[in-house]
Amino acid sequence: MAHVVVIGGGIAGLTAAYRLRQRDPGCRITLIEQAPEPGGKLRAGSLAGVRVEAGAEAFLVRDPAVADLAAELGLAVVHPARVPAALALGGRLLPIPAGTLVGVPADTSALGDVATATPEPATTGPLLAAGQDVSVGELVRARYGSEVVDRLVDPMLGGVYAGRADGLSLATTLPTLAAAARTHDTLAGAVRAALGTSAGPATGLAAGAGAAPSPKPIFGTIEGGMSALVSALVDAAGADLRLGLPVRGLHRTASGWRLVIGATRSPETLEADAVILAVPARPAARLLHEVSPEAAAEVGVLDYASVALVALALPGVVMPELSGFLVPAPEGFATKAVTFIDQKWPHLAAPDLALVRASVGRYGDERVLQRPDGDLVSLVRTELAVLLGRDLPVPVDATVRRWGGALPQYAPGHLDRVRRAREALAGLPLALAGAAYDGVGIPACVRSAGRAAEQILH
Ligand SMILES: Cc1cc2nc3c(=O)[nH]c(=O)nc-3n(C[C@H](O)[C@H](O)[C@H](O)COP(=O)(O)OP(=O)(O)OC[C@H]3O[C@@H](n4cnc5c(N)ncnc54)[C@H](O)[C@@H]3O)c2cc1C
Repeated sequence: MAHVVVIGGGIAGLTAAYRLRQRDPGCRITLIEQAPEPGGKLRAGSLAGVRVEAGAEAFLVRDPAVADLAAELGLAVVHPARVPAALALGGRLLPIPAGTLVGVPADTSALGDVATATPEPATTGPLLAAGQDVSVGELVRARYGSEVVDRLVDPMLGGVYAGRADGLSLATTLPTLAAAARTHDTLAGAVRAALGTSAGPATGLAAGAGAAPSPKPIFGTIEGGMSALVSALVDAAGADLRLGLPVRGLHRTASGWRLVIGATRSPETLEADAVILAVPARPAARLLHEVSPEAAAEVGVLDYASVALVALALPGVVMPELSGFLVPAPEGFATKAVTFIDQKWPHLAAPDLALVRASVGRYGDERVLQRPDGDLVSLVRTELAVLLGRDLPVPVDATVRRWGGALPQYAPGHLDRVRRAREALAGLPLALAGAAYDGVGIPACVRSAGRAAEQILH
């Protein structure tokens, strides 16, 4: 009986274990997770007695990967209320323009007061050469000017990656737009083509996707919370779950792998026929170092942003009728995104309380995260009052959840680096899965895990 070890118990590792079990009911699976509980960035929290998400809260449903997985596991998907999202600009909350791909508009005349675009320069031939990758900011600045980037695209991407448009790879974060840019000579034409074919943006994180209005919901979450998906995967995977144990070493043996796990003072070894590595890039690179220095070098380049999620339960306040809003960096606030939890997700309402979640921290400007929890709560409350233009009461409950080094910053060329890493590992009974490689969104992680399981089975 083959023994497969899955390293990492986030959505990618759990899904990989489940797919292995589905395809090979007899195989022995061990899943090793360094944290005391499985789930990775999927984690339940609580605010004023309401179960709210402490990590990822939603997923794109236009990419059916998660909804299909949920259905297989007997879980129901619930959708957010149809309330708009806004951008905080110059002391006003302006609606996020429709008809954009993560803020990149097809029609620049429809941006209203949000931004003024410059006319697209004439170009002969496609915007991008075959295989070429650039940052989203570079392309959009060149075609539409800086206002569109700074006031629209950057905050939309920031809502997903906590990163900046000028640093994020077009091919990784907006793959359908990158593909269209290789055949179109205007950005407007490329966006129109991408919107026609797109499964949507890479993740369900932004307060509003900004895609063309659609009668179908764009996002969903799991009834009972994302942790219900984690529990269902744990049950269905039938793996030997080893929690609270970091994998410290990965060594090739004549027939497979030897893993060193647990505390340095009392390490344990484990033999495996095959391994699925579903951890973030830094621990992955450390574990790959002996196996393939080339793969380790390619994987280890990926950098991460840190964020804190500050949740407040505010009594006796009626918030604007929005699901939330994004705050562009030039506005000068530490808060970069705000979700009105109970307005976006009516099943999470609490009587007479406004439940608010603010995301703080941007890639490259993370000093604010060094403040203690109490300071972050005060800062968010103060900034929220300014952004809403009103006084706010003392919260009856407040939580701070820190996510250090949690959001991958896919720089241009990321997909080539991942391809080279996988090529360097070709032929070994080892597969890479998760957000370090194939996209940050939960659907992308689920797909990545499915491919890793298939690779190991073959
Ligand atoms: C605050 C936040 C909000 C987000 N919101 C959304 C959202 O709404 N929608 C969406 O689609 N995406 C969202 N994302 C992104 C998405 O949640 C993640 O990209 C995805 O969950 C990553 O899954 P993963 O399995 O690849 O990695 P992870 O969830 O990071 O799991 C990897 C696991 O590996 C473990 N590990 C690391 N090193 C070792 C080791 N040496 N040995 C053993 N275990 C190890 C870690 O403890 C971790 O549990 C959000 C991310 C964050 C941080």
